[in-house]
Amino acid sequence: MSRRLAYLAEIGIPAYRLRRAPVAEAPRDAVETAVDAAAATPVDDTRAEPSVPVPCFAREETPIAVARGSAAGATDDDAWSRLAAEVRDCRRCALHRGRTQTVFGVGRRDAELLVVGEAPGEEEDRQGEPFVGPAGRLLTAMLKSIGLAREEVFIANILKCRPPGNRDPRPDEADACADFLNRQIALVKPKAMLAVGRISAQRLLDTDLPVGRLRGVVHRYGDSAIPLVVTYHPAYLLRTPIAKAKSWQDLCMLLSLLRSA
Ligand code: SF4
Repeated sequence: MSRRLAYLAEIGIPAYRLRRAPVAEAPRDAVETAVDAAAATPVDDTRAEPSVPVPCFAREETPIAVARGSAAGATDDDAWSRLAAEVRDCRRCALHRGRTQTVFGVGRRDAELLVVGEAPGEEEDRQGEPFVGPAGRLLTAMLKSIGLAREEVFIANILKCRPPGNRDPRPDEADACADFLNRQIALVKPKAMLAVGRISAQRLLDTDLPVGRLRGVVHRYGDSAIPLVVTYHPAYLLRTPIAKAKSWQDLCMLLSLLRSA
């Protein structure tokens, strides 16, 4: 199996092979055919997709030029320790009452990629780690599909405490928690960020547009103009496998950013 086919298999995108190639003409890459077909199929977002699918390893709005922070800044143990302690004891919003524990985030403190999700779910609240369970396993596979081990990136959420019943975070809760994520981003100084899901994308980009309208282009986050790519939440992808083709395109764009930064 080719490397590319292995990647797609890893995130669950079906790739079909011809049983027997035509004699006179070499077949088009079967994966491209499968991905293009899947990308051209409408999914349940509200975006009017471009008539030409977003190409893999392709599109940026502007050239990327983001300097890496110094090693000392990215591994500031004191700052990380203070931040972790503040999060652990935080009572800035009412969510502290229902949590089993805070979910600070996990991964390399000098990661090139920072992944931002929504909020801890039941299992995350229990284990104290973001993106565990089936959605977490899919995220891990998605990262692996672009050659990144989960341990190589930093993974955090908009909220550090679980909303009751896994409801959406409320604006006042996200406001109260924003300082923690901002400080994590400032410490990690990632080359690129990946916002997974609607809540994360809308919060980071200060918009109410749906994911389908936000993916497919490179955004910029904060004063440092960190390149930011939006994709679907793994939980959504588990419910809507056809959207994995678009997510693969997002991952290809992200990989291109990381390579060029
Ligand atoms: S969600 Fe954030 S702001 Fe609210 S209590 Fe938890 S850590 Fe504090």
